[in-house]
Amino acid sequence: PPDAVPQAPEDPLFGLARAYKADDSPNKVDLGIGAYRDDNGKPWVLPVVRKADEVIRNDPEANHEYLPIAGLAALTSKAAELLLGTGSPALSEKRVSSVQTISGTGAVHLGALFLAKFYKVNGANRTLYLSNPTWANHNQIFSNVGIPTAQYPYFDKKTKGLDFEGMKSTLANAPDRSIVLLHACAHNPTGVDPTPEQWREIAAILKEKNHFPFFDTAYQGFASGDLDRDAGAIRYFVEQGFELVIAQSFAKNFGLYGERAGCFHYVAAPASDAANTTTRVASQLAILQRSEISNPPIYGAKIASIVLNDPALFAEWQENLRTMSGRIISMREALRSKLEELGTPGQWNHITDQIGMFSFTGLSEKQVQKLREDFHIYMTKNGRISMAGLNTRNVEYFAKAVDSVVRS
Ligand code: PMP
Repeated sequence: PPDAVPQAPEDPLFGLARAYKADDSPNKVDLGIGAYRDDNGKPWVLPVVRKADEVIRNDPEANHEYLPIAGLAALTSKAAELLLGTGSPALSEKRVSSVQTISGTGAVHLGALFLAKFYKVNGANRTLYLSNPTWANHNQIFSNVGIPTAQYPYFDKKTKGLDFEGMKSTLANAPDRSIVLLHACAHNPTGVDPTPEQWREIAAILKEKNHFPFFDTAYQGFASGDLDRDAGAIRYFVEQGFELVIAQSFAKNFGLYGERAGCFHYVAAPASDAANTTTRVASQLAILQRSEISNPPIYGAKIASIVLNDPALFAEWQENLRTMSGRIISMREALRSKLEELGTPGQWNHITDQIGMFSFTGLSEKQVQKLREDFHIYMTKNGRISMAGLNTRNVEYFAKAVDSVVRS
């Protein structure tokens, strides 16, 4: 009966966006949702995306037919290269199976379904370990398909950096063959990433314990401006011979948020029958995909594939990525120096140490609420700010507001 369905709470992030929209203060600042804004606070259509759009519009053969179940092959093959590097042995040995998905969320979901169906130990689903904290959607995506979740420590409240010892000891003590979700770069929500040396130690623990790595990459190129560097952790794990999966989003790095372009990749461990394993996995992914969405959407996939397959457009894309990451890095510097100038109590080095779209400010829930009530500044209650919401016009206003709530 309908009354057996309880009312669910509104998604906190989308609720926040709604409250921001309804606020008519001219000073209001949106530091909630993770979407890039230019220095005028406006969404930015990447110039290279406009060009690719032009290519589609001028193509007399373009139509609205279905894509194949696995999506646009011209996209998925380049997307795998983008992650693994063009010379990756995993690609030449045909150990990679790729499926186009409904952006990164759809990729995480497809991976979750796949693991729920095929990665059981003695008939039971393995536990998936998520960082504490993690992207809020991770928990429900995995629990919806019956994968039990647990947490590993990640954020150290004192240093506002990585709790590396806590992370390592939890992973080392987890049951063998657990699944471990890792943010490839620009960890959401903290902006804290392991160093290359720490990634090596993490890989060694996962190997020792036979854990299964599940990479989520939503910020390649957007984090540092360097596509190869932001794929460094994934490439290292693949070099180490792991069997793993990767959920890849093109929402942020192409600014294709609403077009839902992304891919899921399975990488088999090197072995004489690895190519066969990969073929079998691909056949199962096709069945899962067919029953979930039949086939993925075409427009965003075409845009990304046109850019990835054209050397001149690819170079221009890298330029656009540097524009976005560069603006965000300069806002980190501006915010930190304004807070230090004001003598705001506390340490603010974490603002520039953290990377990517988000910063975990360390502001308390009470301070966050005060910022909203007294200053019309909107952010999630865990103190996360989207750096993209800051610009040369509002960064000083924000710094002064933070100064005020920290002192009160
Ligand atoms: N994973 C992480 C860690 C994210 O931050 C995001 C974007 N918020 C996603 C996945 C997926 O986003 P989308 O479905 O828009 O690609």
